Amino acid sequence: MPWPTHAVTNQVPELQDYNLFATDTALAQGLEQAGAGWHAGQLERLGAELGSAEVLRMGALANRYPPELQTHDRVGNRIDAVEFHPSWHQLLGLLRREGLHALPWMAPRPGAQAARAAGYFLHAQVESGSLCPTTMTFASIPVLRNEPALFPLLRDKLFSLEHDARDLPLAQKKSMLIGMGMTEKQGGSDVRSNTTSAVPVSGEGRGAEYALTGHKWFFSAPMCDAHLVLARADGGLSCFFVPRWRTDGSKNPILIQRLKDKLGNKSNSSSEVEFQGAAGVMVGEEGRGIPTIIEMANYTRLDCVIGSAGLMRQAFVQAAHHARHRSAFGRLLAEQPLMRNVLADLALESEAATLLMLKLASAFDAADDPLQRAWRRIVTPAAKFWICKRAIAFTGECMEVWGGNGYVETGPMARMYREAPVNSIWEGSGNVMCLDVLRAIERDPQGAALLLQDLREAAAGHPGLLALLDGLQGDLQAAPEEREALARRFVQRLVLAAQAALMLRHAPQDIAEAFAASRLDAGWGRVHGTLAAPALQRRILDRAWPQ
Ligand SMILES: Cc1cc2nc3c(=O)[nH]c(=O)nc-3n(C[C@H](O)[C@H](O)[C@H](O)COP(=O)(O)OP(=O)(O)OC[C@H]3O[C@@H](n4cnc5c(N)ncnc54)[C@H](O)[C@@H]3O)c2cc1C
Repeated sequence: MPWPTHAVTNQVPELQDYNLFATDTALAQGLEQAGAGWHAGQLERLGAELGSAEVLRMGALANRYPPELQTHDRVGNRIDAVEFHPSWHQLLGLLRREGLHALPWMAPRPGAQAARAAGYFLHAQVESGSLCPTTMTFASIPVLRNEPALFPLLRDKLFSLEHDARDLPLAQKKSMLIGMGMTEKQGGSDVRSNTTSAVPVSGEGRGAEYALTGHKWFFSAPMCDAHLVLARADGGLSCFFVPRWRTDGSKNPILIQRLKDKLGNKSNSSSEVEFQGAAGVMVGEEGRGIPTIIEMANYTRLDCVIGSAGLMRQAFVQAAHHARHRSAFGRLLAEQPLMRNVLADLALESEAATLLMLKLASAFDAADDPLQRAWRRIVTPAAKFWICKRAIAFTGECMEVWGGNGYVETGPMARMYREAPVNSIWEGSGNVMCLDVLRAIERDPQGAALLLQDLREAAAGHPGLLALLDGLQGDLQAAPEEREALARRFVQRLVLAAQAALMLRHAPQDIAEAFAASRLDAGWGRVHGTLAAPALQRRILDRAWPQ
């Protein structure tokens, strides 16, 4: 119907019904390079489904109607249940069907981690909250499969491709989700301060049952069928498998106190809980709770990198789409030289983030290779620091490309911007990640030397990059206190060197050179849009988001 006062013009059509995978050249090429080209067909199908108007709408609805806690039923019985919009369960169903909670464990083969990472990256472009329980389930499997008494009972439910939303004892369920509980009121980074206690009920040590009393201050996805929880036994901080229901069919006394009212990540319920003698089975050795659960955190940190890279990709695509349809001062925004510089700079950063997440995922596939172990152990926390933090500024810049329309909740940009910071905070905040990089280098100096040598080989013929690597080597000689104080500077430079090396190895030469040159240029970096290669910018954009 024509509007009586004016015609609507120069507004941008919704970006929907497009294929997230088929339009992403860097992802498709990176997948091949990671030896996971065998998964391309499935990703192409998934990319079309995720880009459909229907699934995009699910992502929006799951966040517009956040979960609600129901502590009691109508007649006053405690139920501690969380109710979700149906879209939440549809999204979990989709993740599950694609095996994104378990693919490399269910069907190990070369490239399986990269294949799974690519699928996760696509889903992150549509909805992030549903990734949280998916990631925790994925990350728990390498821990649980070391438990010979427990794992056979869980295996089929963990590997099931069906999402089962019912709140029932495990024996009655077709599949299960797993969360993690470490953070308490007095400390999240320093979990050694945990006070939740674990008292033996039958036997002691690995595989024995304990009663847990205490609290967790952040306990995401409390509707998961079980959580891996840190609690203090006689022998020290230990890890426990704490199911939602006890084996006798009664509810395990894990009381949900309230749901957090969060900045973003609205679809996902993050709760505060109290354990009132909750049943838990010890996982790993008594007193070795931190190393046991850190195995899980290595994978959740990888997923933070993949998820943030996915968020960056989607924010960039939305920005480029907008700029190709919106005009100002007589020209499309994408044709304005300064806007083109901003978009090309964003595209470069997005491609480098994509390559880095695929490289790290591949490194998780090569368990015994010392160089890949160094990438995995040293570069994963570095990337967790850098990519997750960059996603905050990145999504903010993309939102600005949309102008005022970016700032309102009727479009996707505001949600992405609110979503971005969480990956930087949870699973080890920025400083903690930087300190972890230093720790990993101290523990494996030979691995660090191999890594620097690998980067050096990729940097051959690039004096600026070689000088950066010399600088990194020099930084490692500093006294411990100084090294710690300068950790962010070191890690930032390490990640940029790693990204430049990956770009030089895998991206078209001129585009890789533009990345390396800009990231080594002291004038680059505080905002996007400071590239000094105007002639290339159109090509960078056409590669990143084909017309
Ligand atoms: C939405 C959301 C969901 C979450 N879900 C879960 C969950 O399911 N399970 C769970 O266990 N936790 C969860 N967390 C908690 C999260 O992992 C912690 O918030 C995080 O690890 C930081 O711990 P903290 O909040 O206690 O901050 P602190 O540990 O107090 O840290 C505060 C700041 O100090 C810095 N810092 C700490 N130590 C040092 C140091 N030595 N040197 C320099 N700087 C330092 C940190 O980097 C951080 O920036 C969740 C958090 C959020 C926001």
